[in-house]
Amino acid sequence: MKIVVCIKQVPDSAAKMTVENGRVSWGDAQLVMNPWDEFAVEAALLQKEALGGDVTVISIGKEEAKEALKTALAMGCNEAVLVSDPALANGDSLAIAQTLAAAIKKIGGVEMAFFGRQAIDGDMGVTSVMTARLLGWPMISLAASIKVNAGSVRVERSIEEGRQVVEGNLPVVLSASKDIGEPRYPSFMGIRKASKANIPVWKLADLGISSVPQSIIRWPSVAEAPVREVVTEMVTGGSAQEIAEKLADKILAEKVL
Ligand SMILES: Cc1cc2nc3c(=O)[nH]c(=O)nc-3n(C[C@H](O)[C@H](O)[C@H](O)COP(=O)(O)OP(=O)(O)OC[C@H]3O[C@@H](n4cnc5c(N)ncnc54)[C@H](O)[C@@H]3O)c2cc1C
Repeated sequence: MKIVVCIKQVPDSAAKMTVENGRVSWGDAQLVMNPWDEFAVEAALLQKEALGGDVTVISIGKEEAKEALKTALAMGCNEAVLVSDPALANGDSLAIAQTLAAAIKKIGGVEMAFFGRQAIDGDMGVTSVMTARLLGWPMISLAASIKVNAGSVRVERSIEEGRQVVEGNLPVVLSASKDIGEPRYPSFMGIRKASKANIPVWKLADLGISSVPQSIIRWPSVAEAPVREVVTEMVTGGSAQEIAEKLADKILAEKVL
């Protein structure tokens, strides 16, 4: 089974985001693999273990995105590819999806392509769906468990109300929910292997894309979230009982309960 997993490098979730001159900045915070994509890598590796085959991890980004790719290699992916081209600098989700679809086609023979449910910086949650549309493959989102059987896939989806079972044919695009299982830690051997990995860099021309379409979604402005006024009040008293009673009265008075 030939499997692909698409990952994005994003600022660490603890990074302090600011807006400077209309651009989002995260200062010198660390860049990491998008946390939702760790579940996608786990899903891909579980399928490799169940069915055999190999997993190729792809990221579109700058040279530093190789670090996120190395994390995926250290977790157990077999190959990694970075797609990096200045023409993608202001690309929207459609441009990213067209590039990923072309990369998946170039790899060839892929039967399952995994994505995270969304990127924690852009939060669009559409790249997987658009890529599936461009490939002409079915798309199944929020997979909690996956079983492949003779050219088709049976997926249990995690939805708010419970679980839903859906089926589709291979090749398929899937996004992973966190119920797929805790992402594994990179092994020591994996880290050593990944540190020596030679990661090829593909340009758009290598994918047969001569020009990226102009973004049909533009970002006219970006603003920081308004600061919320928070007032802190310490509840004091002579005993735990007295403090608890005072606290309960305040909660009731504020209609929190
Ligand atoms: C400098 C800059 C300018 C931009 N300008 C625009 C603009 O003008 N208009 C606009 O709409 N957007 C713009 N973007 C946003 C960018 O195109 C988004 O990253 C893209 O739309 C994907 O959306 P998302 O990040 O919300 O991913 P989601 O759709 O939330 O991601 C879902 C999943 O898709 C996969 N994925 C997403 N991105 C990648 C990637 N790069 N490589 C591999 N897999 C990936 C991951 O599995 C991820 O979990 C800009 C970004 C930058 C850095």
